[in-house]
Amino acid sequence: MSLLNVTNLAVAHGPLQALWDISLKIEPGERIGLLGANGAGKSTTLGAIVGYYPTMGGRIEFDGCDITSDPVPSRLARGIGLVPEGRRLFTDMSVRENLEMGAYLAQPRKQLAQSLAQVYAMFPVLQTKSAQAAGTLSGGQQQMVAIGRALMSRPRCLLLDEPFIGVAPIIVQEVMAALRDIAQQGITILLVEQNTHRALEFVDRAYVIENGRSVLEGTRDQLLNDKSFGAKFLGLD
Ligand code: ATP
Repeated sequence: MSLLNVTNLAVAHGPLQALWDISLKIEPGERIGLLGANGAGKSTTLGAIVGYYPTMGGRIEFDGCDITSDPVPSRLARGIGLVPEGRRLFTDMSVRENLEMGAYLAQPRKQLAQSLAQVYAMFPVLQTKSAQAAGTLSGGQQQMVAIGRALMSRPRCLLLDEPFIGVAPIIVQEVMAALRDIAQQGITILLVEQNTHRALEFVDRAYVIENGRSVLEGTRDQLLNDKSFGAKFLGLD
């Protein structure tokens, strides 16, 4: 059974329809990319999956259950975690407080100490800076906090919205290694990434979104060998 099954999803922001027809099917443990130009609807797709935006049409199933109309906390409780675009940290609060916010639901709260130790093991710099205000950290370290906070809810499926924006090149590889580690723990990953080359380094498969529609899907190799995909997204002639 698929872990996440989105069919014919349609979403509007007020009068503006952002998604017209998005379908994605993700198996447990897969690493999936969501690619497309600015404004194509990638962030809206992640937001709709986690429940931030009501749907106009279509269906979202997680682990075989229809969650299309479920409130955000119940989706989090089922195991959907989001690392939002722009990180959205509480910049005046400490690193540790930000991480603890990720474990506010009843079940994750019981495992808070264990989860915190796991996040610190993954990102040792966060332990060093645990009492510091999150806003004083570098872009890359703030991204580590955002990823760590999402892990604190012990997700089965992690949605990441452009986690490399504002991250210094030298730190990108460190964050990428953490994502590989997370995937190796069996957590399913759906990654929105502007840099197609970078995304294809990491994912098994990807979907391409254009104007609110999922228009192409393929494994990394299928996409790398697709001429029109290459011309549009990889700068190849
Ligand atoms: P980007 O890489 O620029 O974030 P994206 O592919 O993630 O692009 P979305 O952010 O999902 O695309 O945007 C899809 C469309 O919906 C765009 O036209 C955008 O302006 C609009 N939009 C997104 N969020 C909102 C919002 N909260 N209110 C109004 N319009 C929005």
